[in-house]
Amino acid sequence: MIDLKQFEVWFVTGSQHMYGPEALSQVAANAQEVATTLGAAPEIPVRIVFKPVIIRPEAATALCQEANNTPACLGLITWCHTFSPSKMWINGLKQLRKPLLHLHTQHNRDIPWSKIDMDFMNLNQAAHGDREHGFIMSRMRMNRKVVVGFWKDASVWGRIGAWCRAAAAWADWQGARFCRFGDNMREVAVTEGDKVSAQMRFGYSVNGYGVGDLVNKVRAVTDAEIDALVAEYASAYKVSAELRKSGSNSLREAARIEIGMRTFLQEGGFKGFTDSFEDLHGLVQLPGVAVQRLMAEGYGFGAEGDWKTSALVRAMKVMASGMKGGTSFMEDYTYHLDPNGMQVLGAHMLEICPTIAAGKPSIEAHPLGIGGKADPVRLVFDTPAGPALNASLIDMGNRFRLLVNEVKVVKPPKPLPKLPVARAVWIPEPNLAVSAQAWILAGGAHHTGFSQAVTTEMLEDFAEIADIELVVIDRDTKIRDYKQQLRSAELFYGLRHGFMS
Ligand code: MN
Repeated sequence: MIDLKQFEVWFVTGSQHMYGPEALSQVAANAQEVATTLGAAPEIPVRIVFKPVIIRPEAATALCQEANNTPACLGLITWCHTFSPSKMWINGLKQLRKPLLHLHTQHNRDIPWSKIDMDFMNLNQAAHGDREHGFIMSRMRMNRKVVVGFWKDASVWGRIGAWCRAAAAWADWQGARFCRFGDNMREVAVTEGDKVSAQMRFGYSVNGYGVGDLVNKVRAVTDAEIDALVAEYASAYKVSAELRKSGSNSLREAARIEIGMRTFLQEGGFKGFTDSFEDLHGLVQLPGVAVQRLMAEGYGFGAEGDWKTSALVRAMKVMASGMKGGTSFMEDYTYHLDPNGMQVLGAHMLEICPTIAAGKPSIEAHPLGIGGKADPVRLVFDTPAGPALNASLIDMGNRFRLLVNEVKVVKPPKPLPKLPVARAVWIPEPNLAVSAQAWILAGGAHHTGFSQAVTTEMLEDFAEIADIELVVIDRDTKIRDYKQQLRSAELFYGLRHGFMS
């Protein structure tokens, strides 16, 4: 769906002119080798582009300006093989509007104990050159990721790869358009938020469209298009007996809605959308399978007008591109509170992405119970066991907070034959009692982006790039410390963003 090879990260080596041409050409050759190796690493999903070694302030400034103006460039990886005095970087870094990863590595892994001489010492100075480089970024209060280790280590590639995925999601958000069919579910607070602040901070715009305009697209769908999609449903999913009955019009109406929605989203150049069961005028069903399949194609989605979750799901899908494991809109739905094993059943009324399906989903129509419309068609499935996470992006009024909880998806302890929706059952870290307490104290939403591919590290890098608060609930969470962390964040972000954001 989203090809990360369209993006590039520039590998930039800092030095200075005083080393002389011979040493500088060795630095360039070594840096080229590092860049080529990173570019070939399976953990790094984007292209790595080697840039000439920076030895003068003018070059550093020009490079940062060029990065800003190159849409395919996600950001910079910088490394100081030798000492690169940092005052020469100030003007460039001041202008840099792209993410930065500082790779603290060394061309040689081992000290050549028996051969080391002053020429070697002169050439391999990252141990102190990168500290000078780090100082100026701290002095300038720059957000960035620092990765330490040997450049041939897979663990280093993994950390760089996570950042590349976060930077790709960030680039994808810049100028992105999200479409809202209808407004938020009436009276709901957590799905609200400041769309102007979001655009200033995140770079995407969110605008509303009349559901009547969508209905026009749905009505324009031809019978031949519907025939083709219904045939696709029949081959991709197990069709329920009820839907197979002749005379059942539900499947055709679901297909009509899917085609109309896709047309609307494609024509508008949208990367995600929201809908609302309270605003379906002219649609005969709440979109179910349509939303599920559009999510599987890479669209972000949030139900009940939840545009923040829609954008977050899109970002997580970009991060997860090409990885094993799916990503979906999700909701904490109901609990299993057995003290011997508390679990969460996650689901939604309909809209769970089939990228997280274990096996072939079934396609079924059932009454919804709310909304007063025809029985909506939806895909029903379980989610495979394994590690996953939930993330929630909330508007705290003076800032956005990204809340992450690592979870373990488990096989449902018993079959759920009467539950007509896609679902996942999980045990949150460190356990349900602490997780839910922490989540609620942080104001986390009931809606989340759920992923079996995206990692906490990617979301941490993403929050760093976006310059927003990150709160993680994991196996180390202790409520007393956690509450103090939330209080400290109030102070920090109050000072950092002040009255101007
Ligand atoms: Mn909901």
